[in-house]
Amino acid sequence: MRKPFIAANWKMHMISGETEAFITAFLPLVRDVKDVDILIAPPFTSLAAASRLLQSSPIIIGAQNVHYEEKGAFTGEISPAMLTDSGCSCVIIGHSERRQYFSETDEIVNKKIRTARKNSLEVILCVGESLEEREAGKTFHVLEQQLAGSLKDIPLSGMTIAYEPIWAIGTGKTASNEQANEAHAFIRGWLRKNREGADHIRIQYGGSVKPDNIAGMMAQPDVDGALVGGASLKPDSFAAIVTGASAK
Ligand code: PEP
Repeated sequence: MRKPFIAANWKMHMISGETEAFITAFLPLVRDVKDVDILIAPPFTSLAAASRLLQSSPIIIGAQNVHYEEKGAFTGEISPAMLTDSGCSCVIIGHSERRQYFSETDEIVNKKIRTARKNSLEVILCVGESLEEREAGKTFHVLEQQLAGSLKDIPLSGMTIAYEPIWAIGTGKTASNEQANEAHAFIRGWLRKNREGADHIRIQYGGSVKPDNIAGMMAQPDVDGALVGGASLKPDSFAAIVTGASAK
């Protein structure tokens, strides 16, 4: 059985004081939830605050990006060692905003995953199609290309996949439960054909997940959790998503 995995991607929100206030309010709300893995990915500048407050909690601290080199003259970048030193044990790689605004290709994503895994960081790899691609009937083709390119020569241990249709991110337009499960089943099928351990890997859905749609998503056989942007910025709404994923 795959344990549900709910992750918060705070993007470029939440300075350290806001992070502290969030965690202080959030922890009591999820204290009794033992059957869901929870991750919070704050911005880099709030990692220290998150790490201090979550020291004795099972909540995982994640980062939103990492560079593919271990160290060197890469002004403004962040290395895997810097992330582990800041308390991170996981990193989100290949988010569509990084692909779209920072020109990250599958090749770059693949290099980042290699370096992250070499440094014992777990990885959430994001894949997903645009509206144009979906309407042109190319969803599975896009997913296949992204999986083959991003996961080239990479085994599945330490990996989570997040299926995030770009048209559903931050738009309030969630994929239907059936659309999400169809894409997840395709991803798992591709992984089964090409890698060991596909039945154990968790596939999160991401795209306008909210307290009122998490239960329907989690009821789908191939949906194992969620990557949540907007609705993870308030303790009560993120806690409601976590509890909604409990006892799948
Ligand atoms: C995301 O950025 O990964 C995301 C899913 O955002 P939102 O929940 O706001 O759509």
